[in-house]
Amino acid sequence: MTKQEDLQTVASSFQSFLEELHSKYNSLQDGSVANYIPELAKVNPDLFSICIATINGDVYEVGHYKELFTIQSISKVFVYGLALEDHRRDYLLTKVGVEPTGDGFNAIILDEKSKRPYNPMVNAGAIATTSLIKGSDATERLNRMLDMFQRYTAHNVFVDISVFTSERITGHRNRAMAHLMLHFGMIEQNIDEALDLYFQQCSVMVNCHDLAVMAATLANKGINPITGKQAVDSRYVKDILSVMYTCGMYNFAGEWAYKIGIPAKSGICGGIIAVIPGRMGIGVFSPRLDSRGNSVRGVKVCEELSQQFGLHLFDCSGNQLNLDS
Ligand code: GLU
Repeated sequence: MTKQEDLQTVASSFQSFLEELHSKYNSLQDGSVANYIPELAKVNPDLFSICIATINGDVYEVGHYKELFTIQSISKVFVYGLALEDHRRDYLLTKVGVEPTGDGFNAIILDEKSKRPYNPMVNAGAIATTSLIKGSDATERLNRMLDMFQRYTAHNVFVDISVFTSERITGHRNRAMAHLMLHFGMIEQNIDEALDLYFQQCSVMVNCHDLAVMAATLANKGINPITGKQAVDSRYVKDILSVMYTCGMYNFAGEWAYKIGIPAKSGICGGIIAVIPGRMGIGVFSPRLDSRGNSVRGVKVCEELSQQFGLHLFDCSGNQLNLDS
């Protein structure tokens, strides 16, 4: 068999594996969709897709991978990258910490001593991060943010106005956090504008294919494997992946790091991105959530992929999946 034929065989058996994985967990109906933002409760709970993009730009996908949904908290990862580019690490660390917290993602709490929000993956930290995005006015800040997302997805992205409006109307906890941070000087600009930009970033529409390509971009030193263009300065990829690893999966982050061992971020939309540095990005979408806010099927799929292919960062078994050589 030539090397080319060999690779094709690996690719087609990997695609079959994904199809089997999808049908195995398709019958799992545990959990329920997020409903604290009324517009989100309208999602079809049965949607389910798994996508994997390699750093060479090959994409394996199964299920409803074209179905659009709002990115929600997964946006925090990418906006953190933009804020790092805008301000550099040392300044950002004075405004947002990098400590995991056992509190809920929407806890109205700051670090007692420093008055910083704990990390950029919880809402307070994300709102502070978003408030730092540069731009001469709200429109320029929004456009810079959308441009950033477009570098990762390789196509135009849009804000879902219904979800944005629903978030804006019901986001009282987020407003409370912003006021607390304004009081302690952690947010300086107009907080209504910062909150609007935060609600807009959560309401950016993506599909599961996009999630995998975005994750693969982080796996590929910040270079989008489809366009070959730099989406984020490679110097900051390790900062982004570190906070994903320690804080990305709500109050399951520790157990996730222990069992699954991959930098990841989930959102209450039911999406999960997971990054295997130097190899591939995983996207899973299934809106039914467990009590911590993570997609039930998404966690199962990532757990099985990690075990089957030795994807845990600290796995030394030599059992790693290789789709590229
Ligand atoms: N827009 C959501 C909020 O701030 C983000 C929730 C999430 O995905 O964790 O409540």
